[in-house]
Amino acid sequence: MYRTHTCGELRLSDTGQTVTLAGWVQKSRRMGGMSFVDIRDRYGITQLRIDETTDPKISETVARLGREFVIQATGVVEERQSKNAKIPTGEIEIRLTDLKVLNASLTPPFTIEDESDGGEDIRAKYRYLDLRRGPLKRALMLRHRMAHEVRNYLDGKGFLEIETPFLIKSTPEGARDFVVPSRMNPGEFYALPQSPQTFKQLLMVAGYDRYFQIVRCFRDEDLRADRQPEFTQIDCEMSFVEQEDVLEVFEGMMRHLFKEVIGVEIAPKIPRMSWYDAMDNYGSDKPDIRYGMKIHEITSLVQGHGFSVFDGVEYVGAIAVPGCAGYTRKQTDELTEWVKRPQVGAKGLVYIKVNEDGSVKSSVDKFYTPEEVQAIAAAAGAQKGDLVLVLCGAKRKAQTMLGVLRIEMGNRLGLRNPHEYAPLWVVDFPLLEWDDETQRFYAMHHPFTAPKPEHLDWFYSNKKEDLERVCANAYDFVLNGVELGGGSIRIHEADVQQRMFEVLGISKEDADYKFGFIINAFKFGAPPHGGLAFGFDRVCALFGGQETIRDYIAFPKNNMGRDVMLDAPSRIDDVQMDELFLRSTAPEK
Ligand code: ASP
Repeated sequence: MYRTHTCGELRLSDTGQTVTLAGWVQKSRRMGGMSFVDIRDRYGITQLRIDETTDPKISETVARLGREFVIQATGVVEERQSKNAKIPTGEIEIRLTDLKVLNASLTPPFTIEDESDGGEDIRAKYRYLDLRRGPLKRALMLRHRMAHEVRNYLDGKGFLEIETPFLIKSTPEGARDFVVPSRMNPGEFYALPQSPQTFKQLLMVAGYDRYFQIVRCFRDEDLRADRQPEFTQIDCEMSFVEQEDVLEVFEGMMRHLFKEVIGVEIAPKIPRMSWYDAMDNYGSDKPDIRYGMKIHEITSLVQGHGFSVFDGVEYVGAIAVPGCAGYTRKQTDELTEWVKRPQVGAKGLVYIKVNEDGSVKSSVDKFYTPEEVQAIAAAAGAQKGDLVLVLCGAKRKAQTMLGVLRIEMGNRLGLRNPHEYAPLWVVDFPLLEWDDETQRFYAMHHPFTAPKPEHLDWFYSNKKEDLERVCANAYDFVLNGVELGGGSIRIHEADVQQRMFEVLGISKEDADYKFGFIINAFKFGAPPHGGLAFGFDRVCALFGGQETIRDYIAFPKNNMGRDVMLDAPSRIDDVQMDELFLRSTAPEK
């Protein structure tokens, strides 16, 4: 037996017991004829004590120990002289009677402490050492608990966990596919699934009316800060449901997870907001509703006063930032530079300071009387002491910029406490999104999302304005300004699906080639169905109070999509290339 207990287990009540622990050397030190070694495993840290005069042999072994050596220690549990209230085992120590080195270790390239001295790159290269640190250990434990509770809840609701394949057919719509060459089918490729979307719908056709899966998805996207090329979803689908049924089940799941995983009770009813209200009031389809600072449109108030910047635009909007009227010139200049960054994209920033005495001072005093400036500030919802920030442009673009500015000001004012949770359903998304560049519609969610039945006339119209008005029973679950999940009620009739492909500019031949299997399946009695998927990594990160998902994935990739520990992706040799017909053309079939 390597150990009788773990390193996080022993307490004062175990005093007098002889125990054996196994683990890693956190640190060892000598003090006045005594040596102390901290031994660490997944469960905690325990102090070992060696008396140099009575145990010279063990002391000799201790002298040889380095950080991260693997040891096995036997001894008697005793009450500690100087207790450490910070760790659960801090009241005891083990007086050693035997010590074995099970394995030596090179000196680790960074400290294995909660706060490590190692930079990101070096920790990524030695991920297995980084994973020994407390914060990552706690992150992976939370992830495990989360997965367990997801299964508990959904099993309790009659959902079946069914696996779907990873080697599928490439149907690029949305993100780019990762592809895998097939040796047995020269010149042909599988794709890795961006999500199990079509399979879960086929499972509904097959009659498995409640499906879920905690499943890996693959998207070959340019990686933004918090994206991974492979990530995990809690993927779900249900038959014979309307939007309300889906929201109810998954509101229940989120409530269950909050309670069981982090002991947080959320409000009995999660608020709902239409996509249009989210955009108009928060400039985002994933609003952070932990604080107000809503966007107000002031277009008609500001136009026609000779200020050409405002006169020529579709939309002018403002937010009132609480308590910031005292901003100095330097601070407003800095903010102006901030909104001009490409990530925000504004051309400039207009501000109004509403002083404590109610007087106003703005950067456009030349164009407006004090009364007019007062009226604009009031329309922006400003109180005494607030700083009103104004941006303009095309409507949705300007709103989005204001949304980004609102989040920034929320951060600066400390309004975004990671341990306060404000969940929200965003509903009634537009079905389609027009892209000026390619002059075509894209599915806002995905091409299997159904138009609202009451919008079917517009859906079959050939006018762009009509198609733009079509809404879907699509919904996103948003937490603290982060989209954690989304889904929709699906199309279940072959002809509606066909029409959707047509609207998206996918020819009948192309649709048949890529999606023939699902169009066909819909001809064999497809039930009405709908579902959604949650970003599992993100749910974990947010529950852990973090915005970045990387710590919640055991072996993540870096910003370039590389695994720096494996040094992947990597070249393959010529023989492999030839076998897969990657250098030559495959023979015609
Ligand atoms: N498959 C969708 C996604 O990955 C989610 C859904 O509609 O269920 O976003």
